[in-house]
Amino acid sequence: MDYDIIVIGAGPSGATFVSGLADAGLRIAMIDQQKRETLIDPTYDGRDIALSQRTVDILKQCGIWQQIPDTEVSPIRAARVIDGKSPYSLDFDAKAGGEHPLGRLVSNHIIRKAAMATALNIKGVDLLDGETVEDVAPGEDRSSVRLADGSVLTAPLVIAADTRFSPARRQAGISASMHDFGQVMIVARMEHSIDHDGVSWECFLYGSTLAVLPLNGSVSSIVLTLPHQEAQRWLGKSPEAYADAITRRLGGILGDMKLVSERTSYPLVGVYANRFAGDGFALIGDAAVGMHPVTAHGYNFCVAGAQALARRVDKAARAGEDIRSKTLLRAYEAEHRLRTWPLYASTQKLVQLYTSEIPPAKILRKFVLRAGNVFTPAKSVITGMLTRHAA
Ligand SMILES: Cc1cc2nc3c(=O)[nH]c(=O)nc-3n(C[C@H](O)[C@H](O)[C@H](O)COP(=O)(O)OP(=O)(O)OC[C@H]3O[C@@H](n4cnc5c(N)ncnc54)[C@H](O)[C@@H]3O)c2cc1C
Repeated sequence: MDYDIIVIGAGPSGATFVSGLADAGLRIAMIDQQKRETLIDPTYDGRDIALSQRTVDILKQCGIWQQIPDTEVSPIRAARVIDGKSPYSLDFDAKAGGEHPLGRLVSNHIIRKAAMATALNIKGVDLLDGETVEDVAPGEDRSSVRLADGSVLTAPLVIAADTRFSPARRQAGISASMHDFGQVMIVARMEHSIDHDGVSWECFLYGSTLAVLPLNGSVSSIVLTLPHQEAQRWLGKSPEAYADAITRRLGGILGDMKLVSERTSYPLVGVYANRFAGDGFALIGDAAVGMHPVTAHGYNFCVAGAQALARRVDKAARAGEDIRSKTLLRAYEAEHRLRTWPLYASTQKLVQLYTSEIPPAKILRKFVLRAGNVFTPAKSVITGMLTRHAA
């Protein structure tokens, strides 16, 4: 079967990329190993995603934001970062950035559902569900994809959006730098007796980190990061014992806590592909850049990358030009690398610092927070990154 574009992985990145090609008049195959029912109506997976203003703008431009009910959007008014048991906090406030909240939280399954509905509404898009890609062969004129049932699809351009562990990336011969943090993130929604007031917290404790993401009502997404063995112990606790332990770790800032969802766990691995494109082949989403979630930028980068590539492909298709030209793919790669590498590299360093408990690191941890509050230009840059509109 021949297409203009084959997208491997119909997750939030793949579907966002396709949604950006609504008027390009291309024949696109989206392949995913999951079943159609799951892709169209995914269930809650524990991830509540913090979206920047730029991401919201791009999602609006490609019609995805309009599919997300207002009731599913929780504004973040302010963010506080604390270290150890000290009450001193590095503060980010929406007011410094202008009219918008600091960020908006939307659950991953709601984003997936909206992106999938938008993509499937586009003429020329086929969803090949329940199909696993077994091999990818980028080629000089056309690239091909072999499915587990032996059938072969071809297209001038193949896009991989198949998770940070991307089998397609490896099959296409693209290497990636991976960093396994040896830690596990446990996510769950919890109700609390004290209102969060729209404030998110990142608590760099000793031996663990704890993040609070404020959702509508007196509910927050609580993200606990622990070394692997300890995480297994926490996952084994009863819901009541887990809630008590989280209440204590938060020092009572949200009062009494109660679990209101299942706990889900994710291994923490950062991934950065050493190239984002080759002959008739490109990487987007976590397959290109798999961020550590502490700086809440993984999906924001997925959207930025999907848009950067879709914009160029759309322009080329409308002008009757080559949608897989080397110039086009190199320009996408350069733009996406420039946008992602500084934050990827600094996030890796930040995580190393705030998970280190040797005395010099403890001193530096406290210094960084205080310097962050005093050195206002740095704060303005971060607030601006979160609240700035898309160009
Ligand atoms: C706990 C947690 C919290 C997070 N919080 C934030 C946040 O606050 N802000 C933020 O911006 N980001 C956040 N992220 C990151 C964000 O969730 C990811 O960046 C984003 O979901 C990646 O989307 P993706 O489409 O690239 O990959 P995925 O969501 O992994 O989707 C990949 C798709 O590819 C399919 N697939 C895989 N292999 C194959 C194959 N061989 N054949 C066919 N199909 C295949 C899969 O079935 C899947 O549907 C968080 C992540 C985690 C784990």
